[in-house]
Amino acid sequence: MAGSFVTVQCPDCENEQVVFSKASTVVNCAVCGTTLARPTGGNAAVEGEVTETVEAR
Ligand SMILES: [Zn+2]
Repeated sequence: MAGSFVTVQCPDCENEQVVFSKASTVVNCAVCGTTLARPTGGNAAVEGEVTETVEAR
């Protein structure tokens, strides 16, 4: 699987942001700066709540 995108809801401000499921860098919330995902070498560790999965094309 080439990876996919997930919609993550920020636990602090409830902003929803699309994050690559295999993000290679830390992804921060665009609104409040909370870490939403951390790289692990495989699938990123998502800190918030995944509300939707969007398959890559
Ligand atoms: Zn936030």
